[in-house]
Amino acid sequence: PAAISIRDLAKVYAAQGGAPAKHALKGVSFDVPEGQIFGLLGPNGAGKSTLINILAGLVMKTSGTASIWGFDIDEHPRNAKRSIGIVPQEIVFDPFFTPFEVLENTAGLYGVPKAARRSLQILSEVHLSDKANAYARTLSGGMKRRLLIAKALVHQPPVIVLDEPTAGVDVELRRQLWDLVGELNAGGVTVVLTTHYLEEAEQLCDRIAIINHGELIANKPTRELIGMA
Ligand code: ADP
Ligand code: ADP
Repeated sequence: PAAISIRDLAKVYAAQGGAPAKHALKGVSFDVPEGQIFGLLGPNGAGKSTLINILAGLVMKTSGTASIWGFDIDEHPRNAKRSIGIVPQEIVFDPFFTPFEVLENTAGLYGVPKAARRSLQILSEVHLSDKANAYARTLSGGMKRRLLIAKALVHQPPVIVLDEPTAGVDVELRRQLWDLVGELNAGGVTVVLTTHYLEEAEQLCDRIAIINHGELIANKPTRELIGMA
């Protein structure tokens, strides 16, 4: 079964303040197979963030359908949302909380009962156990990114989506993050990531979809795609 299924998805941002309407997605269809690392590759402005924001429930689609873990985002929005963990690009936690507190607060927002919380386990999965009680502001850039990933795991979603996980990070940190994504996937999580680095998609992904100007222009197992280049 597909972890994510998208059919004829379109998004038009309305014209405003002199800017014309923008067709950010022009009828995109694809499936993300369960258990894979799936790369959504494309240049800036291609529509990647729009697609992710629709899945996250942050942007309203104009037409088409999307389902997550079998739950249609219109018909079963709560179940759809519970089935996905989104890792945003920007750091979104309070610098004066500790990683442990950040995860406990996030669990609270999701309504995860105290007894069912696994904050320490999740911190261990992202290799932050030794920083559990440090102020987030004292973490290195790499540790902050791992904490962002940890936040997306709090409700134990079967699917996580990472938006440009390695944008602006150095080579060493990029490799660390790749390792971590591989570990999470080996642990059973289906991963979708967006990137504009072909090398990143090649190294990491089982399958790559390429999006450009709001249209899907390829969708193949990585081996086949690279064979064509
Ligand atoms: P990517 O993530 O691939 O860089 P985006 O989804 O951010 O692409 O953007 C796709 C297109 O939609 C771009 O032309 C962008 O300028 C436009 N766009 C994105 N968000 C908005 C918005 N809120 N209002 C109007 N246009 C937008
Ligand atoms: P923990 O005790 O938190 O489970 P480990 O013992 O697995 O962490 O790792 C200790 C240190 O090694 C971490 O602080 C981290 O900096 C680094 N490390 C190990 N594996 C990874 C990885 N896949 N990604 C990032 N950092 C890692």
